[in-house]
Amino acid sequence: TLAGVGAGALLAFLAVSILFARWALRPIERAWSQQQRFVADASHELKTPLTVILANLAIVRGRPGETVASQEQWLAGTETEARRMQGLVGDLLDLARMPDPAALRAGFAPVDLTDLVEGEALQFDSVALDRGVAIECDLAPALRVEGDAARLERLVGVLVDNACKYAEEGSTVEVRLAAEGREAVLAVANRGPLIAPEDLAHVFDRFFRVDAARTRADAPDDGQPAAGGWGLGLAIAREIARDHGGAIAAASIPEPGTETARTTFTVRLPRA
Ligand code: ADP
Repeated sequence: TLAGVGAGALLAFLAVSILFARWALRPIERAWSQQQRFVADASHELKTPLTVILANLAIVRGRPGETVASQEQWLAGTETEARRMQGLVGDLLDLARMPDPAALRAGFAPVDLTDLVEGEALQFDSVALDRGVAIECDLAPALRVEGDAARLERLVGVLVDNACKYAEEGSTVEVRLAAEGREAVLAVANRGPLIAPEDLAHVFDRFFRVDAARTRADAPDDGQPAAGGWGLGLAIAREIARDHGGAIAAASIPEPGTETARTTFTVRLPRA
């Protein structure tokens, strides 16, 4: 019976150990399945332009009798898709490089965020003009943070680009930078489509697009990704904000009596 008790205790111990191991491994399992999802999504997104490239090349090779002009057209389509892939691969590398914030911090230097935001807004002035919107800046002078200027430019660029992209024609994109205590607060706001509350939590997820079908179908044939892009911009923006010890948030508030909403992305960064 002593042996029986011993065996029982051993069995109980094993059962508890297994339960504990399963519980402890859950976050790893989740991270692993997120990683798999990411790879699957990325592969899928890369497959589409590749299919177009190969089809276009097959036409050019398979119909030697075609006019130079029509061959040019197929090749131009090939180039467009190749550029699209180039953009996506750049974004993917950006995300893949990110999980080493310690190395990134070692390269941090003082950055004048006011100058940086102003420069980035200027950079997008022509884009805004092209889309029939105006960018209006209200920036507190000489706000400084510790950081990586190129990464911060990317962060501001994603937000200003999105604001211009989704802004209603003829409206104004507002870019505000203010000091709040120990933080620098950047807010980029535009009037445009509402981001539904259930989508708001996901806009920072990789490959998330509010309305994938719509954004893709509306793709202008100009070599740029569809209005909706890849759904990677905000994921990159969030990583950059976090790497700088900051945070990013989104709000989308319906404007009464209209079909539109006021959407604001707010970034908080610790001041230097
Ligand atoms: P994308 O390249 O698709 O714009 P993002 O990660 O930058 O990818 O944005 C994810 C999704 O969030 C977009 O597809 C869009 O649906 C939504 N979104 C982003 N910015 C805005 C905005 N200013 N107004 C409305 N929707 C937005």
